[in-house]
Amino acid sequence: MLKNMKILITAGPTREHLDPVRFLSNRSTGKMGFAIAQAAAERGHTVTLVAGPVSLPTPEHVLRVDVVSALDMLAAVQRLLPYQDALVMSAAVADWRPTEASATKLKKAEMRPVIELEPNPDILKTIRSQKGQRVFVGFAAETGDPIAEAVRKLETKGLDLIVANDVTQPDAGFAVDTNRVTFIAVAEDPRSLPLQSKIDVGREIVAWVERHLPPPAPPG
Ligand code: C5P
Repeated sequence: MLKNMKILITAGPTREHLDPVRFLSNRSTGKMGFAIAQAAAERGHTVTLVAGPVSLPTPEHVLRVDVVSALDMLAAVQRLLPYQDALVMSAAVADWRPTEASATKLKKAEMRPVIELEPNPDILKTIRSQKGQRVFVGFAAETGDPIAEAVRKLETKGLDLIVANDVTQPDAGFAVDTNRVTFIAVAEDPRSLPLQSKIDVGREIVAWVERHLPPPAPPG
């Protein structure tokens, strides 16, 4: 019998504001993470989706928590993680944020032509010590050699599975409804999946997590 799991999924970009109207961000649309959330909900799992700013409808039977910045996303993940059996970090978290953010719109004349940045925390590395028995899945969106980079990230981020995709291909990666990914897991051979819809990639990821959940504790 399939165990109902509690799964936390992050999706979309983060926005790092300079002032209320200006921000740094990236091309993520959230489609991959929302597809994983839909696939997990279809399997009857309890799904919480932490979403950066995206314009996508919430999949049915999914609890959605909206966030803006990387620091907001980190806080939401830290708050929700204790209740989860698995985490899938598909969000494209911004690596840097402006050192200062103004509460009011900056006037052009007040702005300098250089924006000073400071690094955002790596969410996976920050929560690594709270992993316990949970299954952790990350993504690696690469433009070079996806496998080599993914293997490095699997180790440095303490993941069970990393889903690597080459974002230079027109039918994979950002903004499209299809993806071509390779699963790279500890002690398993890399497995390249054919080009397929993001919802089918989501189903493959959910099935992988189901197979790798720890066995239930014995009664008593
Ligand atoms: O290092 P890179 O950003 O390529 O790693 C991608 C993986 O790490 C994704 O799973 C992403 O969600 C996660 N990540 C994170 N915190 C960051 C940046 C990325 O958890 N600040």
